[in-house]
Amino acid sequence: MNPNKTRVVVVPCSGIGKPFGTVSREAAYELCEELRPESTRLVALAKLVLGDAGARELVTRHPTVTIDGCKQMCASKMVTQSGGRIAHEISVLDVFRRHKELKPEGIAELNEAGQKLARVLAEEVAASLDNPEQPGKGDSHV
Ligand code: SF4
Repeated sequence: MNPNKTRVVVVPCSGIGKPFGTVSREAAYELCEELRPESTRLVALAKLVLGDAGARELVTRHPTVTIDGCKQMCASKMVTQSGGRIAHEISVLDVFRRHKELKPEGIAELNEAGQKLARVLAEEVAASLDNPEQPGKGDSHV
């Protein structure tokens, strides 16, 4: 993908060891690789943590969507610390509250409900990118 064409950068939390964190990462992949590959660019949280210059430049030059798996909000905090501009701050827990039937379980591999939750979250973010005047329901922190 041509980075010059990137319109939105997506940063999921690393979510290691927690099903909701795994949903965060899965949703980011779904969004960036399947739903909106032309208009999004995934940046791994680890790169920002390590101070990777390319990752920092991406979050400072483009509106950024963060997806976090719990109240620690690691992705959101790191993007802010890196000088990034957060356009939408998504909490997996907020989306889950609206879809209680989709309880994620498993860490290395999500159960089917968790995969569906990730898909729902990704679709909501994609819809909000298509209609920036009407942010998605999941980004209640902005
Ligand atoms: S936001 Fe929560 S789930 Fe995600 S990496 Fe941080 S502590 Fe883990």
